[in-house]
This record gives sequence, structure tokens and C-alpha cells, in this order.
Amino acid sequence: MTETENAPSMSVPLALAIDVGGTNARFALIDSAGRLHGDMVRQPVPFLPDGSADAAALLDLFAPHVAHAQAVAGGPVPIGLSMCGNIDTETGEAVLIANLRWYNVPFGHMLHERFGLPFCAATDVRQAALAEAVWGVARGVRNFAWATVGTGYGGYLFLDGKLYPGAHGFAGNFGHVAWDEINGYKCGCGQWGCFETFVAGPAIARAGQFAVDKKRSPALAEMAAGGPVSAHMVFQAVEAGDPAAVHIIDEVIRLICINLSGVVNLLDVSMIVMGGGVVQAAPWFVERISARIRPYLMTAEAKRDLHIVRESFPNSALWGAAASVFAAQGILDPTALG
Ligand SMILES: [Zn+2]
Repeated sequence: MTETENAPSMSVPLALAIDVGGTNARFALIDSAGRLHGDMVRQPVPFLPDGSADAAALLDLFAPHVAHAQAVAGGPVPIGLSMCGNIDTETGEAVLIANLRWYNVPFGHMLHERFGLPFCAATDVRQAALAEAVWGVARGVRNFAWATVGTGYGGYLFLDGKLYPGAHGFAGNFGHVAWDEINGYKCGCGQWGCFETFVAGPAIARAGQFAVDKKRSPALAEMAAGGPVSAHMVFQAVEAGDPAAVHIIDEVIRLICINLSGVVNLLDVSMIVMGGGVVQAAPWFVERISARIRPYLMTAEAKRDLHIVRESFPNSALWGAAASVFAAQGILDPTALG
């Protein structure tokens, strides 16, 4: 045996997990038990002057992490990729990633050309649901939904023990159900008045800004100090008891409950795992959704059994990127992949 083969790091398979969001990319070395090795690193996604993400520069960003992972493992390390949009799980082609302005970018091919390593790629919500199914709070749960409230609002489904992609891979887009297409705002998806335009971070910030402009929230006006109101400020104002901010978040919670009760009434899932920046903004957010959703649920069984919980990891999509590698290798139960 060589010295490398005797190294303890060789005893457990590792994957380099990469989560590419609309603003930041995150990197982590994660083993097949879901344990983090070293630190989770966050770096800004490089953009071109035309507003689209720079794929070549993004791969440059990956390079030192790939080198580090291989040094730790003493050999090639597979890459698990999570992307903030639609990416083909077979080819890694970025079909439509609105936040990166990517349309049919052959990113999987570029990744393979650059590093020559095996990889698994999927949309972030699918990866997050997988992480919760194999290592997280939904382990052993046969029917659950993942829901993210952050820059956007959406999710993924895990039904009858498997990830559920739907006919075209787009299942779980419950944030793009219309709530009010007449009085609502234009959504990133091209439709009008989707739930996302009422409950996601930008909608909370917009409502906070409106309250300041109408002089309804002295607390928010003071926090913003003449600058733009952020969703985070609205949550801070709620903590301070500001009535306008309390009303904004109450309304967000009401609409999320109406939307998610539709998911439960339609699919009879027994758990909803929630993640994203808005969910993490306040510890009471998920608890209040869990309480407030009950009257909207159709059955006594759902009212009794539905669990609404926070994500199990600092970033479930990042953990899921690693899980997708181990599931594809058969190290984790591959039936979860569907
Ligand atoms: Zn939409």
C-alpha cells in the first residue's frame, strides 16, 4: 500500500460540492456520510458586462477548489453541482438560468473539458430535497416537499420515496402559481402575479419601501436612512414591533400558507422542509407558517400530521450536490433519485 492509500481521508469517499446561485457560488468538501471537511467557502459569481455570468471565469473560480479537493483525497474527486435554474441532469447543459442569463449554455461539457472529472448536476431545489431525503430531517419520509423562500419562491417534490421531476423536470414550481395576475407584478418567469412576486425577498423589500414612502413605518425609515429598504430590515422592524412591518410579514405568511396548503391538499405530503434567506431571517418564521397553515388544510389527518420544519444544513442545496454524486455512484441509496 502506498502512503496515500493509508491516509485516513481515503477511507471515506469525498465529493466537491458546488452551489452556483444568482450572486454567490459556494464550495464544500463533503463525504458520503454528509460531513463537511474543512470550511464552506463563498465567492461572488463573475459576470460579464452584458449582465450574463461568465462561464469561463466561473470555471477559473472552481479550479483552486478542485485542486484542494484532489490534494485532500489524494486522487480525483467527483463534482456535485447545484445551479439556480434549469440544468439537464444528464448532460449538464444549463437550459435556462434566468439569474445568470444563461440559455442553453453547455456548462457540463465545459466543466468536463476543463477538469476531466465525473460530475452530477441538478437544479438547486432538487439537490436540496435530495440532501434532506438522504441525510436530513426528511430521512425515511416517503412524501415531502422542499420549499425555498429567498430571492425567489419555489420548491421540489419527493413523492412515494423518490424525487419527482414531472414530465419535463419542472415539477414543484408552486411559487409560479398565479395569485393575482390582475393587480400583481410581473414575475421573473414571464407571468404576472405569481405567488413569488408577493412573498419572496424582493417582494418583502418592495412592501417595506412602500410603507416608508407612505410614511407608515418610522422604524423602517430610520433603518433605511434614506437608502433602499431590504427584506432583512423588514424582519428587524418586526422584532422591534413596528406595526407596518408586522402587517407585511403577516401577509407573506398568509399567502405562503394558502400556497403550501394547495401542495398538501393536492399531494398529501406529510412534511414541508423550508430553506432560503427569508426562512433563515427569523427563527419564528417557519413556526408561524406551521401554525397558520392548519385552517387551510382539507383533512384532519393533514392538520394532525403535517410537519413544517427548517432545512437541516447551512445550505441544503450544497449538501445535496454532494449527495447526488454518492447516489449516482450507488454509495447512497440510488432509488431516491427516481
Ligand atoms: Zn412566476
